[in-house]
Amino acid sequence: GMGGGLAIDAGKWIAEHLNKKLHSVPTVLSVNAAFCYKSAMRVNNVVTYMGRIFPEAIYIDFDIIKGAPKHLNVSGAGDLLACLTASYDWKLNSMVTKSHKFSQEIYDGAQELLGLLAENVDNIREVNDDGIYFMCEAYRWVAEHSAIMNHTMWESASEHAFFDNMEFVCKKGFLHGQIIGLAVYFMSLFQDNQHTRAVMMLKRLGIDITLKGLGITEDQLRTCLLTLREFTEREGLRYTIINAKPITPEWVDMAISKYKKDFNIDD
Ligand SMILES: [Zn+2]
Repeated sequence: GMGGGLAIDAGKWIAEHLNKKLHSVPTVLSVNAAFCYKSAMRVNNVVTYMGRIFPEAIYIDFDIIKGAPKHLNVSGAGDLLACLTASYDWKLNSMVTKSHKFSQEIYDGAQELLGLLAENVDNIREVNDDGIYFMCEAYRWVAEHSAIMNHTMWESASEHAFFDNMEFVCKKGFLHGQIIGLAVYFMSLFQDNQHTRAVMMLKRLGIDITLKGLGITEDQLRTCLLTLREFTEREGLRYTIINAKPITPEWVDMAISKYKKDFNIDD
């Protein structure tokens, strides 16, 4: 597979089903598809993760990566930022349903990754060698531990549920890391977990999570938040903060007005 996330995942899926060896050449670091053993597939308009395949090799050509549009590479950091909300959900999950085996060591590793992400914000935004190196190492770390644990809950939880529902509500696809950035904004606020840090990182990275930047309306955002629990239950998604407490209309009003203030969005 060669290209962006969709092409890489198509390559993975085909290689797995034809029993062929896999060589992945990501041309952009917008998602961790090249590193992850599962393939993201769209089933009935909902992205699900299936399969299990490991590449013979992953080829990273720094010049090719630098040649891709900057905002695509930077958006990949949005997907890494998902560790902030997902690891919180994972710990919560481990205390309630225990559906996804918990590891303190990996939890701590995820916090360390977030610390390194903060340190590398400027490198990532500029897509320089250090930034590319960090992104690849971070993706590799996540992927390696996903394969060991057979799940990815420290990097995919309530914020990915928000993303799934956003696609469902808006009936359109998004740049993954960009919509995950929006999701981390709202889920970290809902979790009351490192929200200020998340906002600071999103702003410094320059990931555009405004309504205009995402091509969504305030109504769609509101609907997504208000139907998130129902969507999570209907789709049988993993237990997260979304299941733990209700998302009330009052909270949604507060959250959206804070969001509009934080990102200077006028009515
Ligand atoms: Zn993701």
